[in-house]
Amino acid sequence: MMHTSPSTQPLPQAGGEAAEFWLAASGGRLLLKCCEDCHEVHYFPRTLCPFCFSGNTVWFEASGRGTIYTLTLNRRTEPCQVIAYVRLEEGVTMMTNVVGENALQAAIGAAVTVDFIAGDNGQHVPMFRLASAEGKQAP
Ligand SMILES: [Zn+2]
Repeated sequence: MMHTSPSTQPLPQAGGEAAEFWLAASGGRLLLKCCEDCHEVHYFPRTLCPFCFSGNTVWFEASGRGTIYTLTLNRRTEPCQVIAYVRLEEGVTMMTNVVGENALQAAIGAAVTVDFIAGDNGQHVPMFRLASAEGKQAP
């Protein structure tokens, strides 16, 4: 029997072209891919560059900082889930969730930083928290 999940995250895969992405996520690092031929950054990571189809793509660690491009609330979940497209500093857009106590204050243009949340299967998935000027101190 099939049922649809309210999750908007891509399903983690053990192998394949994004294996390194998920491995890094479990270690708290957000990896993106850049093409050495056309110098475009892309997400979700692929073996072949989606811009020029070069196989000359390399991993690099993203800053983890971005801004909310657009967002929507999924009220079918409890608590309701903030689904957002986050535009990273590196220029790519990720579909993700905004998490944290103040997630419902998320707004278009708000600054966010990445965090890694363990899913039911133990795989850490990159999600974002509102970057607030007050409170949390960066080490
Ligand atoms: Zn390319």
